Amino acid sequence: MVSRVVFGRGSFNQLDEILAPKRNGRHAPFIYYVDDVFKGNRWLTSRINLSYKDKIIYVPTLEEPKTSQIDQLVEDIILEFSELPSGIIGIGGGIVLDVAKAVSLMLTNKGEAKDYQGWDLIKQPSIYHVGVPTISGTGSEVSRTTILTGPERKLGINSDYTPFHQVVLDPELTKDVPKDQWFYTGMDCFVHCVESLDGTYLNAFSQSYGEKALEMCKEIFLGDDLSKEEAQDKLMMASWHGGMSIAYSQVGVAHAMSYGLGYLLGVKHGIGNCIVFDHLEDYYPEGVKLFKQMKAKHNITLPKGICADLEPHQFDKMIDVALSLEPLWENALGKDWKKEMTREKLLDLYKKM
Ligand code: ZN
Repeated sequence: MVSRVVFGRGSFNQLDEILAPKRNGRHAPFIYYVDDVFKGNRWLTSRINLSYKDKIIYVPTLEEPKTSQIDQLVEDIILEFSELPSGIIGIGGGIVLDVAKAVSLMLTNKGEAKDYQGWDLIKQPSIYHVGVPTISGTGSEVSRTTILTGPERKLGINSDYTPFHQVVLDPELTKDVPKDQWFYTGMDCFVHCVESLDGTYLNAFSQSYGEKALEMCKEIFLGDDLSKEEAQDKLMMASWHGGMSIAYSQVGVAHAMSYGLGYLLGVKHGIGNCIVFDHLEDYYPEGVKLFKQMKAKHNITLPKGICADLEPHQFDKMIDVALSLEPLWENALGKDWKKEMTREKLLDLYKKM
């Protein structure tokens, strides 16, 4: 779990104070990975105080992170600085937060990032790392994974060393998120709740967080009573609770299939989940009904026909990626999931998308 967290509008201003005691001398910089949407945005960047060799690195977010990108970022740090950084700070959405987590792990673990995709393969503690989300929903700020696309698969580095040491939750940082992005990323949180609450791995820990997050998602996406600020505050906490819920359970069918779309077509996580979830009424009837209501209320039109021109071997690859995520299927469908979820069924579903 994340051991330290501050919450509140304007709490980003406390970052300096939080980091100061963690500095390991003037040769050990703090590296800030910042979503490149904030390039030139002085409202945010002027509040990052750089000292000694500290550095801001803008991270492009058109594509989700690749293992090779992490290896490059780690090498850049090793070549530029004589000492390991004092800390890595990720300021952005799920992509940037995952980059910050992955780099902080790979600075202390030998080899390539792709060697660690899976569960509990990391052996050495990471360096100190801090997460500052600027969009709500992915739960990356609280999760014990960092999702990466490698040469073979799209899979996270799941480990006890992955979670941030510190998170700063400042809902004000989400004020300029475009509407479609807000919806897709918010729906990631909603899907986390549904997949956790409907899963066979469910337990009292996951349920307590999942139910709270689901309730907040309904208020935010279906209610009419919240002010803009209240909705921002609540979505930030819904993301946190949704992340906590899956931390002790698992996600399910939508995530498994969305990873297939992401791997083959580069479809980003939030929108990928939405495209898949829209077709999952057989698996999550209640959740899909709510999702369609939310989609209608916010006038969201999802892309259609993204799989229309795919070749058979491409469908095969997507199905391979989806089926390789065994814990997700076991959570969704139980121990005998292989009897229920066949390649043919997956093919039919993908063909509809
Ligand atoms: Zn997700």
